[in-house]
This record gives sequence, structure tokens and C-alpha cells, in this order.
Amino acid sequence: MTTITVFKGDGIGPEITDAVIDILNAAKAPLTYEFFNVGAAEYERNGALIPEAAFQSFDKTHILLKSPITTPIGKGFRSLNVTLRKKYDLFANIRPAKSNTAVKTPFPNVDLVTFRENTEDLYAGVEEKISDDEMHSIKIITRHASSRIIRSAFEYAVAHGRKKVTCVHKANIMKLSDGMFLDIFREIAPDYPQVEADDKIVDNTCMQLVMHPENFDVMVMPNLYGDIISDLTSGLIGGLGLLPSMNIGTDYAMFEAVHGSAPDIAGKHIANPTALLWSACMMLEHLGENETARRIRQAVDDVLAEKKCLTPDLGGTAKTEEYKDAIIAKL
Ligand code: NAD
Repeated sequence: MTTITVFKGDGIGPEITDAVIDILNAAKAPLTYEFFNVGAAEYERNGALIPEAAFQSFDKTHILLKSPITTPIGKGFRSLNVTLRKKYDLFANIRPAKSNTAVKTPFPNVDLVTFRENTEDLYAGVEEKISDDEMHSIKIITRHASSRIIRSAFEYAVAHGRKKVTCVHKANIMKLSDGMFLDIFREIAPDYPQVEADDKIVDNTCMQLVMHPENFDVMVMPNLYGDIISDLTSGLIGGLGLLPSMNIGTDYAMFEAVHGSAPDIAGKHIANPTALLWSACMMLEHLGENETARRIRQAVDDVLAEKKCLTPDLGGTAKTEEYKDAIIAKL
């Protein structure tokens, strides 16, 4: 049994968390849980977005399943995700995007994974005012951060039977920064001879992604390109609603849906728990529980393909609980 930390979050967070935990239990996932209320509602109750006990749990378990949190507006809060990313050095943001039968898009054959470096590049926040008319923002690329994101992309490819890793860059223009990122990619690639390695310039990547998304497999890139490309790939499969993600570091890993707390539908029991459930499947795979993850994924695919029990966001009329029960019945 592995103990994991679960943040229940705001809005639809508690509803989709309950559904996901029921499905994990039905699949006999060998997990025990430490649950915490976190987010805006918790702040109103106890004056902290994340209670100290919740941090202590993650400190101990190293694995966090996090449901979405409402960002309080106008109170000077630092994004909770930035806080978690920094505190636990979650350097890799990993987003798979896979077409599925429930959402019709012009791109039925997408099955790719974006590895976005999470800690540096133009997001390091090193900016300088030169004059009222000139501002500088410094792009920081280090060997340390580049090596670890590139290596984790290859490790993931090997662990998940992926065939190719593509390095996305603009090394033809930013010869030193992106140039080093690409050099490091080329240094590391030979350590994984079973995986094909290639590289593409970021602008060409955008065009190729919408013309031939089926040619992409795993992609690895610095922070800014990763931010943009991962949203582009979300669009290819029909939007943010069905997208899981994981943020991993050397010692800690956090799994969450890409969508937010959906306050407009909170409490109505119509939220779709799939993105959080697929995030939980990534967590199971991270823990080596591949067979349990595979069974859950298969059950979800079957329910989506039948189109008999879909939540309203996918054009159906099912309640969250009915959709959950349909998945459990398949299991
Ligand atoms: P959102 O993703 O919460 O909602 C956008 C739209 O998608 C809404 O109409 C919502 O009903 C729908 N939707 C989202 N998830 C759904 C689901 N699982 N099932 C059915 N419909 C779903 O985005 P928003 O409205 O811009 O943000 C709401 C709050 O969430 C904000 O406070 C924002 O800061 C926060 N947020 C948190 C995270 C996070 O914790 N990781 C991520 C994004 C936004």
C-alpha cells in the first residue's frame, strides 16, 4: 500500500475527487489516502490556502493528487501552483493529449505528450527597466535544468513504450540559450538508442502540429514554448476539459486536471471527473501500478465510446455519480 496526499480543492473539486477515489477503490488500487481541504474555501474557514498539515502530508508521502482550486481575486495571493512548484522543485510539467471518441475534432489521431521545463527560461522573472521606454526580460537556460527535463522525457518514452522524442527550440536565432538546450538534447539522446530523437524549430512545430499531429510523440522544450505548445495540443483534442497533467521533480510528484474549479457548475453534480481520473492513472503509472491504470483507462474508453452515459460537457445528461458508476460497472 502506498499512502498519497489528496487536496480536495474548491468548486467541483470535492465532487470529482470523491468520484475518482471511488473508481480507484473499485479498481483495487493499492493506495491509502490522506485528505485535505485546500483553497479559497479553506482560506475563508481557517485563514490558510494550504493548511500546514497538508504540506506535512505531502512532505511525507511525496505524491499529491490535487483537484482544482479557486484563485482568490484581489488579495495579493501568489498562485498556489507556483507555490507548490517552487517549494517541491517540480521541474517538469507533463501533459499528454490524446484524441478520444467522445469529442469530435478534425484531428482524430493525436497521441502525444508535452514535457515543459517548469523553472526557468523567460519565466524566471528576471526583468529590468532600462528606461521608461525600454524593458528587458532575461531568458535563462541552464545545463542543470535542461539536462533533467530532457532526461525525464527520454525516461518517460522508454517507460511508456514511446518511439520518438522531439526537441522543440529556436536555436537558429537564440544560438547560446536554445543552442545549449539543443546541444544537451543531442548529448543525452544516444543514452536511449531505442528511442528516435529529432528536433524542430518552434514555429515549424506549430504548423506541423496542426497539419500532421500524428507525426509527434513525446516533445521536450523550454518553459515558454511548452506553455504555448501544450495549450495548442489541448486545442487539437477538443479543449481543456479532458486533459490530465503531472508535475514532477526529483523527489516529489503532483497530479492534477488541467481545468479549473468550474464554480459555475459546482454542487450541481454534473462535473466531468475524467481529467482528474486520467491524472490519477498517470499517478498509478508513476507508482508502477501500470495494470491498474490500464484497466481504468479501458473502462473510461468503453464508457466514452458507448456514448450512453456522458456528462453534459460531452453532450450527455448523466450526473457525475452515474458516469462514475458506469466506469465502475465496466471495471
Ligand atoms: P474552469 O476550467 O474552471 O472552467 C471553464 C469552463 O469549463 C466552465 O464553463 C466550467 O464549467 C467548464 N469545466 C471545467 N472543468 C469542467 C469539468 N471537469 N466538467 C465539466 N465542465 C467543466 O476555468 P475558469 O472558470 O477560468 O476558472 C475557475 C477558477 O479555477 C478560477 O478561480 C481559476 O483561477 C481556477 N483555476 C484553477 C486551476 C488549478 O487549480 N489547477 C487551473 C485553472 C483555473
